[in-house]
Amino acid sequence: MNNQRVVLASRPNGSPTLENFRLETAPIRELKDGEVLVKTLYLSLDPYMRMRMSDSDSYADPVQIGEVMFGGTVGRIVESRRDGFSAGDLVTGYTGWESFSVTADETLARLPRKMAQPSLALSLLGMPGFTAHHGLLNIGKPVPGNTVVVGAATGAVGSVVGQIAKLKGCRAVGIAGGTDKCAYAVDELGFDACLDHRSPNFASELKAACPDGIDVYFENVGGDILRAVLPLLNDFARISLCGLIAWYNGDPSAKPVLAAEVLTPLLVKRVQMQGFVIIDQYPEHHASFLRDMQGWLAEGKMKVREDIVEGIDKAPEAFIGLLEGKNFGKLVVRVASDDSR
Ligand code: NDP
Repeated sequence: MNNQRVVLASRPNGSPTLENFRLETAPIRELKDGEVLVKTLYLSLDPYMRMRMSDSDSYADPVQIGEVMFGGTVGRIVESRRDGFSAGDLVTGYTGWESFSVTADETLARLPRKMAQPSLALSLLGMPGFTAHHGLLNIGKPVPGNTVVVGAATGAVGSVVGQIAKLKGCRAVGIAGGTDKCAYAVDELGFDACLDHRSPNFASELKAACPDGIDVYFENVGGDILRAVLPLLNDFARISLCGLIAWYNGDPSAKPVLAAEVLTPLLVKRVQMQGFVIIDQYPEHHASFLRDMQGWLAEGKMKVREDIVEGIDKAPEAFIGLLEGKNFGKLVVRVASDDSR
């Protein structure tokens, strides 16, 4: 039995390319005490991985050249020398872009063995769902009747932000790339409106979709979307600063926004803006997130669209596509089928 793994071959300069990754086959080593052998079933692809490919100062530690790419997974334990974990357990953790992991990963957590849709642990019930829940409810603090705006509105985080905003009695306005994504946001996810950020009239269309201004802006993108949102903010608006994907690649077409353009409306309109990184929030907020999300799922109030790619060898191409908006929904790689079910 061999392991197929994707390692970082070189650091990208701008947008990542396939040459920045290398697919390797390697033998699986013996377990030491405290370790488990996990067969990866699903690998989550997420924008933060772009930061880990660079050696710059960020909240995400860089992956070293030649190391397996970092990533969240769902897998089945094949062998265990760790207390609390047994062969056959379904688990989620950060075991990386590989088909088998020998790991002492401290984040590893057991899932129900016969979970009907295990990949939900990487979307609604996992990191993106928690990000949306915490960022919207604890930072955005929406109240019924508020207008909530979110970019990347059909993605893993944005789709949940919009659905929670509706559950809380708000007007939810999404921003997404293309008419298909916008139609899905309105028709399937229940957004009140969704604007295509590629439209030449995007700024005026956003203004028309927010006749009462913007009370909560959930920031996923930056760039021209932020520029269009700033003039529409209401007095005492809240900005939940979650991500700035337009700037992750250092893309020259994503023009910087001047400090004065941002800070002046924040001052004049007494806006509160708070950045957050979800890994900090587990102890305090994770239980209430799970309670809410499991309840909404059971009541049929929460939808997810998964964009599933087959095979670990396809992960680099799919990840590059994520940074170009080619994914439609939560991007997940199906690494192997689950023979144990
Ligand atoms: P998505 O599933 O939404 O995928 C990324 C999407 O971003 C693309 O599909 C595309 O959507 C959009 N996008 C990419 N480049 C641009 C661009 N230049 N301009 C406008 N839109 C762009 O990803 P996630 O939901 O996983 O992540 C969304 C954001 O949340 C990211 O910024 C991410 O870094 C952040 N995040 C932050 C966390 C935290 O702890 N702070 C945790 C998790 C995520 P479209 O085609 O619709 O434009």
